[in-house]
Amino acid sequence: MAKRNATEFLKTEYDALVAQSLDWRIKKLEGPSEAHAVVDGKKVLMLCSNNYLNLSNHPRLKEAAIKAIQTHGAGSGSVRAIAGTMNLHLQLEKKIASFKHAEAALYYQTGFAANAGLIPQLVGEGDVVISDELNHGSIIDGVRLSKAERAIYKHCDVGDLERVLKELDARPTPPRRIIVITDGVFSMDGDIAPLKDIVNAAEVHGAMVYVDDAHGDGVLGEGGRGIVNHFHLEGKVHVEMGTFSKAFGVVGGSIAGSKDLVAFALNKSRTWLLSGSAPPATAAACIAALEVLETEPQHFKKLWDNTNYFKKELQALGFDTGVSQTPITPVMVGESGKAKSLSEKLFEQGVFALPIVFPMVAKDKARIRTMVNAGLSREDLNFALNAFEKAGKELSII
Ligand code: PMP
Repeated sequence: MAKRNATEFLKTEYDALVAQSLDWRIKKLEGPSEAHAVVDGKKVLMLCSNNYLNLSNHPRLKEAAIKAIQTHGAGSGSVRAIAGTMNLHLQLEKKIASFKHAEAALYYQTGFAANAGLIPQLVGEGDVVISDELNHGSIIDGVRLSKAERAIYKHCDVGDLERVLKELDARPTPPRRIIVITDGVFSMDGDIAPLKDIVNAAEVHGAMVYVDDAHGDGVLGEGGRGIVNHFHLEGKVHVEMGTFSKAFGVVGGSIAGSKDLVAFALNKSRTWLLSGSAPPATAAACIAALEVLETEPQHFKKLWDNTNYFKKELQALGFDTGVSQTPITPVMVGESGKAKSLSEKLFEQGVFALPIVFPMVAKDKARIRTMVNAGLSREDLNFALNAFEKAGKELSII
């Protein structure tokens, strides 16, 4: 046998991605993430960040972070479970619980760490995870880490979910536990999960409900309290997972729910137990973000005013914005090459919006995914709309 080459695959697999134009060409932000940003040396209008409420460069968040560095240092020194829990982390968790109207909350380093750490602890051998077919990759990876059986239901199709639940309970030995997991807002299309119906369907079968509200935090519900508040389902959703990396403008994951859930998650999530905790500046900035949400409602209002205007005007120009109900506004193009050309033409005109192509979406569903944020003025939105109109006509999309 010829001696194996230890690392040849690194280049061949990368080259294969390049040959199919599936490699990431990373663009560089030279300054804060704001509505007017500098990307690869060019001044552009930001239409693809998750900074929905424009908080990532907010003075109160920055001041809180700087102050925390002065009082608590740059790092936390340990994992949370050993010596890395600071009063700031605990204050933040209290604040999350009260913001979410939940009994308790737990803060993770990232949303990904929350999903990957908690899901495999909630279900194991003899259990079943039922997942929406379009759920986020961090849920998929969390599910892969568990020994539970997996079942998929059609996107947002509660009838199909009920079918799966009935089939499972009709087995000679029904599963020990069942958990239904869904994104709250779906990140590719911007549609909202029918959470009320999901909760009702799950309740009949004694199934747990887990919602990943990464794109609903700060965006849905009263003052941005998220999808559970949006549907008035407090106390009925067993795990409300969220992130501080999007509308809240910082970084970090969270779960909110019962005291039992938090005690369980804290003692079992390996990502929480075995990975260093967030630096004090991060925890302090997250606390400040929640305070801003509670005291400065203008950001939330602006986000929705901008979203409604931009979507309506894109549609008036003849663009198809799919099934979006939120600031995530896809501009459907169809073919991948065309979506990439549209993105390039927009960038040339000073509008930063990335194409989403296969394998992230189906081959004929390529799109530009715009994410509206509260930092954009009406003039900015009109500027972006003009750029879309010009490029869309050049490419015969409209
Ligand atoms: N869930 C969803 C639906 C997401 O979009 C993301 C971020 N892309 C995550 C989880 C992960 O969150 P975080 O950035 O906090 O790791």
